[in-house]
Amino acid sequence: MEYETVIGLEVHSQLSTASKIFCGCPTTFGAAPNENTCPVCLGLPGALPVLNREVVERAIMLGLATGSSIAPRSRFARKNYFYPDLPKGYQISQYELPICEKGKLEIVVDGTPKTIGITRIHMEEDAGKLIHGENLGQPDSSYVDLNRACVPLLEIVSEPDLRSSEEAKLYLQKLKTILEYLGVSDCNMEEGSLRCDANVSLRPVGQKEFGTRAEIKNMNSFRYLQKAIEYEVERQKAILDDGGKVIQETRLFNPDKGITASMRGKEEAHDYRYFPDPDLVPLEVDEAWVERVRATLPELPDAKRDRFVAHYGLSVYDATVLSASRDVADYFETVAGAVKNPKGAANWVMGDVLRIVNDRKIAVADCPVTPAMLAEMIGLIEDNTISGKIAKTVMEEMEANGGSPKDIVAKKGLVQITDTSAIEKAVDEIVAANPGQVEQYKGGNEKLLGWFVGQVMRATKGKANPAMLNDILKERLDRA
Ligand code: ADP
Ligand code: MG
Ligand code: ZN
Repeated sequence: MEYETVIGLEVHSQLSTASKIFCGCPTTFGAAPNENTCPVCLGLPGALPVLNREVVERAIMLGLATGSSIAPRSRFARKNYFYPDLPKGYQISQYELPICEKGKLEIVVDGTPKTIGITRIHMEEDAGKLIHGENLGQPDSSYVDLNRACVPLLEIVSEPDLRSSEEAKLYLQKLKTILEYLGVSDCNMEEGSLRCDANVSLRPVGQKEFGTRAEIKNMNSFRYLQKAIEYEVERQKAILDDGGKVIQETRLFNPDKGITASMRGKEEAHDYRYFPDPDLVPLEVDEAWVERVRATLPELPDAKRDRFVAHYGLSVYDATVLSASRDVADYFETVAGAVKNPKGAANWVMGDVLRIVNDRKIAVADCPVTPAMLAEMIGLIEDNTISGKIAKTVMEEMEANGGSPKDIVAKKGLVQITDTSAIEKAVDEIVAANPGQVEQYKGGNEKLLGWFVGQVMRATKGKANPAMLNDILKERLDRA
């Protein structure tokens, strides 16, 4: 039987606000255990939550960026359950009145745009963290660190519109890009600032109703997300082909084994006994507030991509790569604005600059080759001082030791040879030394032209002007 995969993602994004969502404690990662706590986030009796305005603004930002409607009135609810990392015995979340609903986001699947619906975006507090003693040589102990308790989260719930692990990855990547553009979260996946649950089901191709889903909890890498979905699809397929039924449950992905395993039966909303939190008044967001937030939105990734195509004449692919991060886009635009040919700038940024920052795992802003250095180097290519090949050498030197491209070119004697007689002399020598190849070329093997170019380039240490060399060489060989 052929099946169609159906996936909906629930993404948790930790906000990079200075303080927590309902108290004034800092949100800094890596503090000593329980250092960032107070009576509110410790859940002490009688302590009352106060909503952080900045969290609301960031939720509105993401809502606007995803075309969601912003609720004029929303409400916080208590989601009740017991766990040692949840001292109050309930999590403050939003339930029947979330702040944002009915949004969407565009992904590009094999070159074709596809719109994925966003059901809702709501604000909630994170729970604390349990540290189990096994890893500390204390198998009988567990510790609770409540630094993360009450740290603000946005939960973004997608419609079941995704049809493959690839689409799920593209969706999460796009969402991450938008969150980063907005600056609402640092999206550090290793630290858990962006994590996601995947709901996966199969249905026979052509069937309208969805199949029963399993929910895979808490993945914090694109690779794990894809692997977990792929494993889950195979697991469900085997069950269905056997005539069995998939049970609705919560599963965990084990990255070491590459499999998902059952964690618990699926809980239903009513199990949580949701009810409006009486400690917090309903939240009213008026039109003026929404407009104030709208005015602070930066240019978003899709708009930037389209502008790069229209304004710089880039391909959609290149424009997508360059707009995937705001820092890379800014870097590119600084260079493009300072040179004659923006496409050349795009190639250097996508090639060498991204390679350098990826190899070194550094931020674009920390790239040893600054936009000014790259622009100056491209200028040297454009005014024929150096060839593209020599530029690679200059790039390596800038990466290793810094310095201005002009100085590097002068110091290392890399200026291109544009003196006709010097190139002619080099060509003559190579032609004279290789009579066999000349004969083959004359006999119709025109591919040998490239070989001759290579020889002369080697003899001139790559400094011959390529266009001039080509002309002179052709003319010389025709004459031979
Ligand atoms: P819950 O909070 O119980 O997990 P929701 O109804 O809010 O439940 O759904 C959570 C996610 O599951 C959403 O992203 C939704 O798109 C997705 N989903 C719902 N039904 C299915 C299904 N049959 N197959 C795959 N995903 C589904
Ligand atoms: Mg869920
Ligand atoms: Zn606190």
